[in-house]
Amino acid sequence: MKQYRADLHIHTTLSPCGSLDMSPVNIVKAALNAGLGIIAITDHNSTKQFPYIKKLGMKQGLKVIGGAEINSFEEVHCITLFETDEAVAEFQNYIDKHLIAMSNDPNYFGYQVVVNELDEIMEYEDRLLVNRLDVGVIEIEKEVHNLNGIFIPAHIDRPFNGMISQLGFIPSELKADAFEITRFAKLADWKCDQRLPANPVFVRNSDAHQLKAIGQAYTFFEMEEATFSEIRKTLNGEGERKIFID
Ligand SMILES: [Zn+2]
Ligand SMILES: [Zn+2]
Repeated sequence: MKQYRADLHIHTTLSPCGSLDMSPVNIVKAALNAGLGIIAITDHNSTKQFPYIKKLGMKQGLKVIGGAEINSFEEVHCITLFETDEAVAEFQNYIDKHLIAMSNDPNYFGYQVVVNELDEIMEYEDRLLVNRLDVGVIEIEKEVHNLNGIFIPAHIDRPFNGMISQLGFIPSELKADAFEITRFAKLADWKCDQRLPANPVFVRNSDAHQLKAIGQAYTFFEMEEATFSEIRKTLNGEGERKIFID
């Protein structure tokens, strides 16, 4: 078994609230400097920045997973992660179909740009990506699992845009692969929180919008190799694999 530090919630220049220096080159560099072996790119309601960061990561021994941080109809943020480029692309189609259309005002929200591995701007995203989808958390979770993805309610301890702050509870029919808590949350408190299902799996991630935040919070995965399927097996508690957070 090997140990990997994973930060599975990172924004880029494509998120309106993401700093404009969150380019592929800078993100990969910052992740390696922070000792991370695995990162996931999770912009608000978009997967479009992922391919460029994956390409750079592969060259430098950093595993990069594609996905998005979805804002559901109930304004619950959910981390969604996928194994293959095809699944990422299919999920992008799903987002395009369900994102409630509103134009971005760059003066208010900031620019949303896709940047390639040479720091060149490839695309300006005109739709406001922090808007919500017209579908709820249960339907989104089902779609993610149909595509063999991983579904993690984001920052459930936060007083806004978390599943507990928005719904007040975790729906019993929801099949979450893990629950994300922020670096400010006390693990011991959440382990015995009655609103969560029995024996919940927790991850901590940085939710970085700025370079210096990358790796400030992370999750240790003890598993055979840095692959999506090993991450899934670890979340499921298969074999001797272990997951832990500070
Ligand atoms: Zn969020
Ligand atoms: Zn986020």
